[in-house]
Amino acid sequence: MRTEGEDLDQCAVCGMKIVDATTSFCGNHSEAYRKVNDAYSLWYAAYGSLTTDAFLKRLLTLPETGDRAREMARFLSRDPERWK
Ligand SMILES: [Zn+2]
Repeated sequence: MRTEGEDLDQCAVCGMKIVDATTSFCGNHSEAYRKVNDAYSLWYAAYGSLTTDAFLKRLLTLPETGDRAREMARFLSRDPERWK
């Protein structure tokens, strides 16, 4: 039985086929996830302390944040459990 939006073969962000089993995202969003994660590490080091929520909000306000990274930031703020 399948639940809407919970298909294990599909990227949770865009519904494309998953290519990276470790992140469970499609190619585009695996890359976006890594970039967002790297940015968080850098910002966390720079600010001393930064909640993931504050980080995602700030990321979304930056003009240089790409479309994929934006989608990822929105996804992670809705679903923080996916942040590993
Ligand atoms: Zn995707």
